[in-house]
Amino acid sequence: MVEEIHAALDDAALAQASGADLVEFRVDQVYQGAGDEDGLASVARLCDESPLPCIITCRAASEGGGYDGDDAGRAALWEHLGAGAGTRLSPKHPPRYIDVELATYQRSANLRQKIGLAVDHDSQPRDLHSSLILSAHDFNTRPANLSRLIAEMDSAPVARVNKIAWNARSLRDNLEAFEILQHRARPTIALCMGEFGLLSRALAPKFGGFLTFASLREAAATAPGQPTIRELLNLYRFRAIGPATRVYGVIGWPVAHSRSPHLHNAGFAHTGHDGVYLPLPVPPEWEHFKATLHALRDFSPLDFAGASVTIPHKEHLVRFAREDRSRRWSLDTIAECSGSANTIVVEPDGACRAINTDGPGALAALRTRLPGSLAGVPITMLGAGGAARALAAAFALEGAAVAVCNRTRDRADRLVADLTAAGPLPGTIRAADWADFGRLGHHVLINCTPIGMVGGPDPSGSSLPLGSLDHAPKDLIVMDTVYNPVETPLLRMAHASGRPAIDGRAMFVAQAALQFEAWTGRPAPKDLFHRILLETLFTNRP
Ligand code: NAP
Repeated sequence: MVEEIHAALDDAALAQASGADLVEFRVDQVYQGAGDEDGLASVARLCDESPLPCIITCRAASEGGGYDGDDAGRAALWEHLGAGAGTRLSPKHPPRYIDVELATYQRSANLRQKIGLAVDHDSQPRDLHSSLILSAHDFNTRPANLSRLIAEMDSAPVARVNKIAWNARSLRDNLEAFEILQHRARPTIALCMGEFGLLSRALAPKFGGFLTFASLREAAATAPGQPTIRELLNLYRFRAIGPATRVYGVIGWPVAHSRSPHLHNAGFAHTGHDGVYLPLPVPPEWEHFKATLHALRDFSPLDFAGASVTIPHKEHLVRFAREDRSRRWSLDTIAECSGSANTIVVEPDGACRAINTDGPGALAALRTRLPGSLAGVPITMLGAGGAARALAAAFALEGAAVAVCNRTRDRADRLVADLTAAGPLPGTIRAADWADFGRLGHHVLINCTPIGMVGGPDPSGSSLPLGSLDHAPKDLIVMDTVYNPVETPLLRMAHASGRPAIDGRAMFVAQAALQFEAWTGRPAPKDLFHRILLETLFTNRP
């Protein structure tokens, strides 16, 4: 939104330096309507001095914008911009595009005639340089008359580009935006707004979208859910996305702060894999998970090839794989045994796998300090959630003697019962009271709760009281699954008492590497993953 001409031109220069091809100036607050000569001159200056070709949009208040003058005033602006070359208040370099709402265009024959006179189209006798983008927005929900709106835009002969944008109700709305692009009769922009809309914005090139919008900085987004240019170009590698790009993501709630897109997109770039990895927010309920996964997988043009699955959907994935009759699913041993899976792999023939890389990831991390066999090794785990299930299964399958302590004892008992019922395990598994921690005689202690995690329920807390490790064996290995911060209060205690410690990064990188290898069939660039994880933990830079 332009508030000050200098600042808007500086931002346009920054957008160009950041890799933008086109800049949109929202002049709703610059131009006040008929007779506003200063406003006209300011908009003309924006067009003339913009370092990039530009779209001029003066959005009416009735369409969610800030212009509250009348239509005649806006028509005067469009005429000056598009067809006024040579007149005192008109730009020497007309805007490349003028955006006008479909509803405005349809309001009267007089408006249609004025718009037609200002832009280039097939029956335009003059040599004009501005083209018309005809747009429709719904900031609340999917318009009920979506197909009719598109048909009405198509029937406007003076428009060169159609633009439709609406607030997505779920990830599934993005698929409808892709269908609109697939069936377009002229260059089209079809975008979903809001927290569910990123898919439509980032994947526009896959479906032939005319353009996508990005903001210069987070706070400057002109629509909710809009990525920044840096996120779009550097994190999601917008320029590398094409029709054959395979789509991956992280399914969870919330997912906005996941580090996985940073790792996997960098890994795809590094290995030359034609894929993109996006946050895929799915509300916590089973029905949402089920409907979304069906939709993503069944919309074949999406080339949905896999996903990480995180809180709270890991158990939903196992249920989905067991109940879904429309595809062949297989579960790996840990997913089968623990009832929790964190990875979907869609094979080229459509067969699907639900696998668990948390367990093997934790094993790989533990092996950095304990390389030999785990047979008979006493391991105490704090927590009995999704991660604890996978780790307990992985350790017991390696022969360890696992004790599970949980705040809610019932949940630990259930975990033990489920794992034992899944079949005979080489190791043993039992539930214990957290208070008995000091008497358990363990060689490895692993925190599987979010205690100590930034943004978690108890970020400054430690899963054990201060001094608890003082009487533990000197070679007790203390491991935390939390990776943000790298040194949790529990690990600080381990370091202070001289016990070997393993932070959550090793597990995070190992589980991500296993996912990457399952999707791409190529070795994961683990050093790169480590470096990127550290960078993202210390900066907020995409
Ligand atoms: P989850 O299913 O929600 O389970 C959370 C567990 O923590 C439950 O056992 C819960 O006990 C316990 N808990 C939560 N808050 C607690 C508190 N204030 N005091 C005591 N216990 C508490 O979560 P999850 O998927 O298992 O994830 C747990 C942790 O593992 C998270 O911090 C996550 O970041 C980490 N993780 C790390 C990796 C990695 O790659 N490094 C991978 C997966 C998970 P109740 O049953 O009593 O509620």
